[in-house]
Amino acid sequence: MTRRSFLTGLAAGSALVIARPALVLAQSAPPPAPPPPVFTLPKLPYAYEALEPAIDAQTMRIHHSLHHQAYVNGANAAAGQWEGLRTTPIETVLADLEAAPETVRTAVRNNVGGHWNHSFFWELMTPGGAQQPGADLRSAIEGAFGSVLELVQKVNQAGATRFGSGWAWLVVDKDKKLAIVSTANQDTPLELGAKAVLGVDVWEHAYYLKYQNRRPEYLAAWWRTVNWDKANENFKKAMG
Ligand code: MN
Repeated sequence: MTRRSFLTGLAAGSALVIARPALVLAQSAPPPAPPPPVFTLPKLPYAYEALEPAIDAQTMRIHHSLHHQAYVNGANAAAGQWEGLRTTPIETVLADLEAAPETVRTAVRNNVGGHWNHSFFWELMTPGGAQQPGADLRSAIEGAFGSVLELVQKVNQAGATRFGSGWAWLVVDKDKKLAIVSTANQDTPLELGAKAVLGVDVWEHAYYLKYQNRRPEYLAAWWRTVNWDKANENFKKAMG
């Protein structure tokens, strides 16, 4: 085809040429944007290797980028089935699981619970931070358990004796008293009407690469990662 015959062809086909922009416009109209995900994986406030040697980098990487991500994905899938997850604060949802439709309740309990628990857990650990509870929390701990050492032993016992998977917690309970509780799977203290001060993940995925079946050894080492500044802040918020 010469340039001349091409231009002639264009002129002859001008009806088509005129029709085309409308078609292009229709195609380029943006599709309705999907709603943003309700839940997103929070960034860790430190590097994966930052809690070594108590918790190894590989465990942290897998725990955060795969396990926690899976809870986030599951929670977003549940949000696709229950609009309430878009509009209700997460702590309200978890404090009243009966409000979730029965068809999604288990997914909400496991995945939204898992997301909340892990988000709490990452913030509670730090390579720096205070190594001991602040004055208010310390005196509450001493009043409730005798000493910080006794608190540590009781939390460790709750964690070591949790059969299967779950968590051990120091909480402020409904009566504003410190208490130690353990929850199964990804159940949270929120459904007990309690507010978490500190909590430790005793799922095997939290420690198995380094500690294998030695859960008590993991628990003993875990205390060296606790960010007591954060625990103090959790305590004040729970008491306020
Ligand atoms: Mn976990």
